[in-house]
Amino acid sequence: MIIEGKNLSKYYGSGENKVIALNNANLKIKSGDFISITGPSGSGKSTLLHILSGLDTPSSGTVTFDGKDIYKTKDNELSAFRRRKVGFIFQQFNLLPVLTAKENIIMPLLLDRIQPDEGYLTEITDLLGISNRLTHLPSELSGGQQQRVAIARALITKPDVIFADEPTGNLDSKSGNEVLEILKNIWQTFGTAVVIITHDSSIAKMAERRLTIVDGVLSEVTS
Ligand code: ADP
Ligand code: MG
Repeated sequence: MIIEGKNLSKYYGSGENKVIALNNANLKIKSGDFISITGPSGSGKSTLLHILSGLDTPSSGTVTFDGKDIYKTKDNELSAFRRRKVGFIFQQFNLLPVLTAKENIIMPLLLDRIQPDEGYLTEITDLLGISNRLTHLPSELSGGQQQRVAIARALITKPDVIFADEPTGNLDSKSGNEVLEILKNIWQTFGTAVVIITHDSSIAKMAERRLTIVDGVLSEVTS
C-alpha cells in the first residue's frame, strides 16, 4: 500500500482574501508507517489530512493510492476508498448521536452492505476496552469512551491507514494518554499505518517519521 501526495496545494478565497492553506506538500505513506505531524493552529494540518484521506480535494497536485489518482476516479470509487482503505479519527469524535456504540462502529460496513465479522468486532472492542458499552448511546459515554468507539469505527473495515486529527484534543490527559497507547497498540498489533496530528511530544518522538507544517509548508523533521 502506498498513498502518495504530490505537490499538494489548497487555496481558499481569491484576490486579497486568498488563503494558502497548503503549499506544495509532498508525502508518501507506506504500509506500517507511523508518522506524526505537528504545527501551529491554522498551519494546514487538517487540510493536509483531509486531502490525503479523500475527504477534500486539493486545488492542485495529486493523491494516488497504489498508483491510482483518487480524485480522478468516479465518485463511487472515491467513497469506496474513503470507506475501505482509510480510517479517520476526528478530534470531535463525530459519532452519530442517535445510534448506539455498536451501530456507530459497524456503520461503514452497513453503507457497503457488508455483514460485520463478529469475531473481529469482539477483538477490537476488547482491545479498546469498550465491549461492555456497545449498547450505549454516545451521550451515555465519557469522552475517552466515545473516542474509543470512533477508533473502533475507523478499524472495522481493516483499513491500510488510520488518519488521526488531534485525537486527544478534546480529552483530559489521562484519557488522552490511553487513546495514544491504543493507537500505538493498533499499529503494533495490526500493522496499520498511522498518520497522527498531535501536540503531544512523546507520541511525536515515538513516530518513525516526524513532519512539521508551518504556514502550509510541510517538511520532514530530521532526528
Ligand atoms: P490546522 O488544522 O493546522 O489548524 P487547517 O488545515 O484547518 O489548519 O486550516 C489551514 C488554513 O486554511 C487556516 O488559515 C484556515 O483558516 C483556512 N481554512 C480551512 N478551511 C477553510 C475553509 N473551509 N474556508 C476558508 N478557509 C479555510
Ligand atoms: Mg486542524
